[in-house]
Amino acid sequence: MTVYSAKEDRYENMKYRRCGKSGLQLSEISLGFWHNFGSADSEDNCRQIMRTAFDAGVTHFDLANNYGPPPGAAEETFGRILKKDFLPYRDELIISSKAGYGMWEGPYGDWGSRKYLISSCDQSLKRMGMDYVDIFYHHRPDPLTPLEETMTALDHIVRSGRALYAGISNYSAEQTEEAVKILKELGTPCLIHQASYSMLNRWTEDGLLSVLGETGVGCICFSPLAQGLLTNRYLDGHVPEGSRAAKKVFLNPEQLTDELLKKLQKLNTLAVKNGRTLARLAIKWILRDERNTSVLLGASSPEQMKENLMSVQDEPLSNEEIQAVEDILKKQQ
Ligand code: NDP
Repeated sequence: MTVYSAKEDRYENMKYRRCGKSGLQLSEISLGFWHNFGSADSEDNCRQIMRTAFDAGVTHFDLANNYGPPPGAAEETFGRILKKDFLPYRDELIISSKAGYGMWEGPYGDWGSRKYLISSCDQSLKRMGMDYVDIFYHHRPDPLTPLEETMTALDHIVRSGRALYAGISNYSAEQTEEAVKILKELGTPCLIHQASYSMLNRWTEDGLLSVLGETGVGCICFSPLAQGLLTNRYLDGHVPEGSRAAKKVFLNPEQLTDELLKKLQKLNTLAVKNGRTLARLAIKWILRDERNTSVLLGASSPEQMKENLMSVQDEPLSNEEIQAVEDILKKQQ
């Protein structure tokens, strides 16, 4: 592959949003490494997806210790591509990692202890070949470890220079309130919450977004395309070979019920009527709320990334479009 030189006009078209009340801005679209960056995936394809994103002004790449498969592989893939293509641009990038899910055998490789978080962060840095990440997250709440211990570990990770900012993921509204309070007292404010959110999954509207808005914490929305359901991938009711649903691990063909399919088709008709695609509608719909800082999507090809990036140039949703989406989502088919 040719030597990479990022497009000179890469910052002209992307839009950036302030992350809560922090000094940090994130691109409205971010790229996640949960799928498609494992050891069996084509590294050239990974590289093209990353180049496509960065060339269009995407500054944020999101990883975690367990992304692969196997766990750790996505960070290794990322580290190799960083070295080949992105080192000259390191200061233009926001790179995140996380710990919170099972990573290694025994009692210290999972959940939220200080022992796990700090060791895991060191392992992630090694795999990626980096001195620090920009954001380090606790990946999911731990019902057994005192929240003070987990937050103190995040504070330590920041103070020791392993990360510039701390974040949390998958915490409920109440857990978030408490975590934000502890981090504030420790002097390392919580930068961001990473939460699932899409037209098909609106749990953050029931309290979490209010907490984030009131406390000045940003929100980055994962699985914004419902893992591909909110795109043209399954619109004809068929599960294409190689798609996430065909792999049946995180998305099952059974989830594509007739009722859901009808809704997706109606949403698609609405999108097309307004000159969008379903994926572009789903992205812009999330950005209708200023508290959502960035849409954290995945892509299995540069072409998917390109389509998703077109949403940045699209007009914001009109009130009529927002209402039409509500009507489609609410209706019992
Ligand atoms: P999405 O909802 O964006 O789903 C991505 C998938 O949708 C792609 O892999 C592709 O599937 C399909 N797709 C994307 N764009 C298009 C398009 N234009 N046309 C057709 N199909 C398309 O997000 P993910 O579920 O992948 O999550 C995104 C990121 O969020 C993750 O990588 C990770 O960083 C983060 N995340 C965080 C979690 C947490 O607990 N904090 C949990 C889950 C994710 P296909 O493979 O079928 O082509």
